[in-house]
Amino acid sequence: MKIKRKQFLLRVILSIWLFLLAVQVSCNIPTIRNPRDWVQMVQYSIHLPVDQKVLQQSSPQQWLDWIEKLSGEKPVMIEGQETFLRSRYSYAMFLDYPEAQAMPYLVEQVLQYVKPEQIEIDPYTYTDAEKSYTWQNLIVRLPGKLVPEEKILLTAHFDSIVVREGNALVLAPGADDNASGTAVLLEALRLLSDESFEKTIEIVFFSGEEINLQGSRAYLQDHDFQNIKGVINVDMIGYDSDNDGCVEIHAGTDPESQQIALLLQTTITNYQLQLQPEMLYENATNRSDHASFWAQQIPAILVSENFFDQQGSGVCPTNDPNPYYHQTGDTVANINSHYGHQISQAVILTIVQLAVPY
Ligand SMILES: [Zn+2]
Repeated sequence: MKIKRKQFLLRVILSIWLFLLAVQVSCNIPTIRNPRDWVQMVQYSIHLPVDQKVLQQSSPQQWLDWIEKLSGEKPVMIEGQETFLRSRYSYAMFLDYPEAQAMPYLVEQVLQYVKPEQIEIDPYTYTDAEKSYTWQNLIVRLPGKLVPEEKILLTAHFDSIVVREGNALVLAPGADDNASGTAVLLEALRLLSDESFEKTIEIVFFSGEEINLQGSRAYLQDHDFQNIKGVINVDMIGYDSDNDGCVEIHAGTDPESQQIALLLQTTITNYQLQLQPEMLYENATNRSDHASFWAQQIPAILVSENFFDQQGSGVCPTNDPNPYYHQTGDTVANINSHYGHQISQAVILTIVQLAVPY
């Protein structure tokens, strides 16, 4: 009995040693001399490739949790005070409405993942028929390690609106439009902020989209855009009432934009995500912030639920528009979290490939 136990123990020790040796060889770690090297080696062995991290460390519930908070379903803490984000109407968010403080909420959230010098609060002036307002975008930078001047953008608008009912200043939940896209940006930050990439990733939260794309137009006026190599804009990705997984990829007619769209389509296939991508070229919409980039000849795509394509021009027979669009009923109750999370994963994995892990 005793001899068997000894043999067993010896085998266990031998297996552990062989495993560590294999890790040492596969991670190119030179001769191990002191205990610190062993610690480093274990850290190497648990550091997942970034795509595996995205696949393993995000869930539909984590994605939905951001939407619950951004749309006033769940309370949030801002500067230690509990509140609800019941409206994200741009006219309310920057006028001190107490339940419209999405901007300070987002700033606090992103500072969990990056240093203050990596964020820019980007103010701009919007003038309507009556007066001028100062609104803000939020820009977060993950600097590239090899070619930091080259930028890949992941964008979404975080403002919302309601029309023909209610009062947007006090209630505009916008769970699908566009807390669903904003949640992709927050998941991307959570998953990618400690990773290294060749190019700079800029994660941009636009305000004023619902008022004729004010935020993205202002961003392009205030920033050098010559080195933007690609933009993925995410707007409304949470509604799929027929569970067909149809996702619209609006590529437009520019070949470089179409390359990004094809990469997203391939990513969905290669990672076996449960989505049916529908490519839109001539019939792509310009009704979101990607259109501001197209106007400057910057390669960009829009990713959305099956909202726009009424003709059913590709794999999806017809569209499946959210009936609560721009209504007070656009709440988490109507969000399909499995579907939206699959799109979130596809988008983040595509950003990873565009920025190139370093
Ligand atoms: Zn929208």
